[in-house]
Amino acid sequence: MTTVIVVGGGAAGLVAAWRAASRGHRVTLLEANGRLGVKLRISGGGKCNITHDGPPKALLTAFSAVQARFLRPSLHAFGNGAVLELLRREGVETYTRDNGRVFPLDLPGSAAAVVAAFETLVRRAGVEVRTGARVTALVGHAPRLEGLLLEEERVSADAFILATGGASYPETGTRGEVLDWLKGLGVPVHPWFPALAPIPLQHPRSAWEGVALRGGELRLSAGPEGRRLGAFAGDIVFTKAGISGPAALELSQITERAHRSGAAWLAYASILETPEAVDAALQTEQHGNPRLLAASWVQRHLPERLVLPLLEEAGVGRALMLKDLPKAARKALVGLVTALPLGEPHAVPLARGEVAAGGVDLAAVDPRTMVLRGWENLRVCGELLDLDGPVGGYNLQAAFSTGFAAGTL
Ligand SMILES: Cc1cc2nc3c(=O)[nH]c(=O)nc-3n(C[C@H](O)[C@H](O)[C@H](O)COP(=O)(O)OP(=O)(O)OC[C@H]3O[C@@H](n4cnc5c(N)ncnc54)[C@H](O)[C@@H]3O)c2cc1C
Repeated sequence: MTTVIVVGGGAAGLVAAWRAASRGHRVTLLEANGRLGVKLRISGGGKCNITHDGPPKALLTAFSAVQARFLRPSLHAFGNGAVLELLRREGVETYTRDNGRVFPLDLPGSAAAVVAAFETLVRRAGVEVRTGARVTALVGHAPRLEGLLLEEERVSADAFILATGGASYPETGTRGEVLDWLKGLGVPVHPWFPALAPIPLQHPRSAWEGVALRGGELRLSAGPEGRRLGAFAGDIVFTKAGISGPAALELSQITERAHRSGAAWLAYASILETPEAVDAALQTEQHGNPRLLAASWVQRHLPERLVLPLLEEAGVGRALMLKDLPKAARKALVGLVTALPLGEPHAVPLARGEVAAGGVDLAAVDPRTMVLRGWENLRVCGELLDLDGPVGGYNLQAAFSTGFAAGTL
């Protein structure tokens, strides 16, 4: 029997601790917060999107090629089916939404039920759970970690599993400091980087807070007329400071990269209609329906709250009829309804991301065991690794799979 310390009682650490204890090891789980699974409890808006439906191959395509290659062995060993079966045996029934996202049955506090199930598993397996135990330093150097410092004590074990998560939502306990300590020990790391976060804009449309744009794609380019850098099809929602919603979250990481390189420009564009087709339709309308208000035409394309401010931007009076619409104003309106400019972003906040990109370099970790290369008794798992998937249950699944691999010792 080996003594094992798992640091971090989130998705990855809970699975790692349960797995290691189930294999007969004496396991202590150290969690900084007063209770386990704090981030899990707020996941999926409190409902917890546990995983994504589909075979491993399909799940892996959601990740970058490097991340998919790394995840393959652990996802095969402990995939979505295994996670759901484990939870089902603890009384958590789940369902799959049309978009493939898997949630516990719609009951109040369903994320809490997931945490409770893992907590039961961990305690039943004999894990000693210590909450309120924040690790403040790692002691040792390659190839062996000797121990850990807590605020007032030093603890040691035969093996250590670090599952301290990322660096977003620091109020949930994830401050990201362990990555700095690992770097100090010579472990290759990538600095934390914002991902799956709302995007603040230099000129936010605060008055439109709560308005959603649907059915189009958010486009990132190097300037108003610049090269296209990326796009994501999906809704956005205006916030006080900028935009949120699925397309904003998914595009936030490359938006921040472009912002840091000094050239980022966003627009929300129609994917069904080209500007040429919309312009042709508008001209037809001008002839067939000359007394239609330009405002009414714009309202066919954009939410009502946006109509008057946008007419103003295009220099079109609110009472103007299509027959009186000058060519330049027509072009301006067509431009606005087919690609609404959002302009330059501000820095995307690391703290508000559903994950933090960056983390321990995957090349420094054995993907079957999560052992850090060059180390005998140190494993890392979960978001502390340089893994970040899209919204949809992928990030929790990655944490569960890598946690299971780390706990298999
Ligand atoms: C608002 C929000 C909603 C989300 N919704 C979903 C979703 O529905 N589906 C999905 O797949 N993903 C979701 N995610 C992402 C997902 O929650 C994370 O990817 C996942 O929790 C990572 O698991 P982890 O175990 O690596 O880290 P965490 O779950 O963050 O756990 C790490 C734990 O380590 C502890 N810790 C950190 N440092 C120390 C230290 N020095 N000493 C002791 N303990 C320490 C922390 O307190 C924390 O409890 C969401 C994230 C957020 C922020």
